[in-house]
Amino acid sequence: MTTKKSRQEIAKVIRGHGYRATPQRLAIYDALHESGSHPTAQDIHQTVLERDPSVSLATVYKTLQLFVELGLAGEMGFRDQTHYDPEMEYHVHLVCTNCGKIEDLHVDELERFMSQIEEETEFEITGRRFDMYGLCSDCKREKRDISPPSLA
Ligand SMILES: [Zn+2]
Ligand SMILES: [Zn+2]
Repeated sequence: MTTKKSRQEIAKVIRGHGYRATPQRLAIYDALHESGSHPTAQDIHQTVLERDPSVSLATVYKTLQLFVELGLAGEMGFRDQTHYDPEMEYHVHLVCTNCGKIEDLHVDELERFMSQIEEETEFEITGRRFDMYGLCSDCKREKRDISPPSLA
């Protein structure tokens, strides 16, 4: 469900801010989308290595910082790790406290809710993070399966 920009669009954004749209940067953008849900820099590095073994982890970190700065990616800390999110539309995170999976949930009302807050409080929202914690459907099922059978 992520809204992935084309390589051309990404190159345009990067150049528009006075940076060079190097093949490495574009490969890291692709890897950000292809490394599963909310990958860490290490996950992204693993993915990008399959295409370009010359990309170092340091380059991945630096490029991700650039993407965050340019509004091409979000950054979120969870369990002492930084995860990156290519989805820049408003969404809610469903964070599983058991397996660490982070899923995106798009809620149409979010945007309306935020403009309502701005109108009512005159607070200008410049950042947001909506996290819900709990058990994902897999972990919920697993938990049910290992719980002792009822004696009834
Ligand atoms: Zn889970
Ligand atoms: Zn997300």
